[in-house]
Amino acid sequence: MPFFLPNLPYSTSAFGDTISAETFDYHHGKHHKAYVDKANSLVEGTDLAGASLVEVIAKAKASGNKPLFNNAAQIWNHSFYWEGLSPDTQAPSGKLAELITEGFGSHEALLTKLKDEAVGHFGSGWAWLLLEGDALKVTSFHDADSPAAHDGAVPLLTIDVWEHAYYIDYRNARPKHVETLLGKAINWEFVAKNLDGKGVSRADQG
Ligand code: ZN
Repeated sequence: MPFFLPNLPYSTSAFGDTISAETFDYHHGKHHKAYVDKANSLVEGTDLAGASLVEVIAKAKASGNKPLFNNAAQIWNHSFYWEGLSPDTQAPSGKLAELITEGFGSHEALLTKLKDEAVGHFGSGWAWLLLEGDALKVTSFHDADSPAAHDGAVPLLTIDVWEHAYYIDYRNARPKHVETLLGKAINWEFVAKNLDGKGVSRADQG
């Protein structure tokens, strides 16, 4: 089955000015869709037709097929990203809150660390909150690179720092975009759910 553009788990107007409907129309409806269309065209007629998205990412990486890797990984990254956003302001609780306190001292300190990683990442890429062993880790991957392509990387949350994620609403102000998202738009329930280690499968398809 060809890859598809997943539906957003909220309406495109749900975030108001934090993330505009126009941004969703472009970011989800055009950028994410373009990765889907391109990956499908690259897989069609090859022995990867019918493989899952995560399998395609792994095989494209192993064989050095950069165009396929980039487009397939971007499908996965974006699918995971949308799930990590929520228009309802939440706060971490339970086990997740404990891990945040253990690893960073406080929720605010974690947000600062994530912001610094996202803002400090040079060029296009993704800032990540991962689970490493029993501890949380903040890091970033460049361009399309993805935890789905790294054995043992357990993804919990990501922030898209490609300019296409914020240019309509924030122009070049990546710090303002990241700070607003972290303060108002994170789905901490999704982050907590991913502590089960199954985050990679939650954005898989096929
Ligand atoms: Zn993006």
